Amino acid sequence: MNAKPDIRAMTVEQLAAQLQPEWPAWRARQVVDWLQKGADFGQMSNLPAALRQQLAERYSLAGVTVEKKYVSAADGTVKYGFLLADGERIESVLMQYRHGWSQCISTQAGCRMGCAFCATGRDGWRRNLTAGEMLSEIETAQADHGVRVSSVVLMGMGEPLDNYDHVVAFLDRLAEPGGVQIGMRHISLSTCGLVDRIEQLMQRRYQLTLSVSLHAPNNAIRDRLMPVNRKWPVETLLTACRAYAEETGRRISFEYAMIDGVNDTDACAAELAARLRGMLCHVNLIPINTVEGTPWRASSRQRIAAFTKVLESKGIVTTVRRTLGADIEASCGQLRRRLQAEKRESQ
Ligand code: SAH
Ligand code: SF4
Repeated sequence: MNAKPDIRAMTVEQLAAQLQPEWPAWRARQVVDWLQKGADFGQMSNLPAALRQQLAERYSLAGVTVEKKYVSAADGTVKYGFLLADGERIESVLMQYRHGWSQCISTQAGCRMGCAFCATGRDGWRRNLTAGEMLSEIETAQADHGVRVSSVVLMGMGEPLDNYDHVVAFLDRLAEPGGVQIGMRHISLSTCGLVDRIEQLMQRRYQLTLSVSLHAPNNAIRDRLMPVNRKWPVETLLTACRAYAEETGRRISFEYAMIDGVNDTDACAAELAARLRGMLCHVNLIPINTVEGTPWRASSRQRIAAFTKVLESKGIVTTVRRTLGADIEASCGQLRRRLQAEKRESQ
């Protein structure tokens, strides 16, 4: 990685301290204003040329740049292939809902959790993203597509709680003056279930929505799908989730990928309902997206409806996720896989 410090990782106060005594503190504010608009050093037209040059010499601008952009003809969903300063690739998706634009961002290049059904997990881990890079995903998409992002989900590539310090720094900077200005109630963080980190996050009492990728009602099934379950089994995870919901007063959202013949029987639904009884939560069912080279297929629409009925009959609030951007492969890790395959072919 670039040895120069990342200017985006700094707060305005830290930058001001480093620019003084040569430059007054308000210059740091100007620089940060530009960064928040997605500008590079050369575009900061109200700064003296000498300052611009110094910035370029001293700092790296570890933002993301648009390498590829696909817009869904079906529903306007936008999928970005972003390039990082050191050549790593990540992806991010913009979706339009009635209430505005929502963006799904990546928190790591790759992921080391190794979930068997996930394209990102199968490709392995490259590195963590910095807080500045995560903010840059939002700033760059807003500037490029000419929209304001009003909610963010940390559900792209990577496991956010495996990059805990940078993710917390990112969350703390969302409300920065002049920045992206997105309130915690409009943030969802999705985790495969790192229990120690969930407990740590709970202490911060953020008003964000915690999504937990459960995908199975018991250890026998979850062990097959998610290696993380061997370290943090279902009982331990759900105990932490109960505590989290009670401490924060926030409803947990359980993600459950519906996989034909694996986790989608009525018996699975009943077992899941029993495990979640009395918890402040809801279940979000997602027909699994088949990743090349894996045996899993999505459950049928009828099976999903039957599963939903069992959960609801036991008082569990259940939704079925709408699939947006299916024509542009707008889901976890799939675009990056294709970009890398294209690159290999052209080399
Ligand atoms: N690492 C975090 C967040 C990124 S993955 C997590 O695992 O929660 C975002 C969501 O996509 C998770 O719920 C994950 O289980 C799900 N996912 C991954 N691959 C999928 C696939 N092929 N089909 C459906 N959902 C998938
Ligand atoms: Fe990582 Fe999430 Fe994919 Fe699992 S589902 S490999 S935790 S990105």
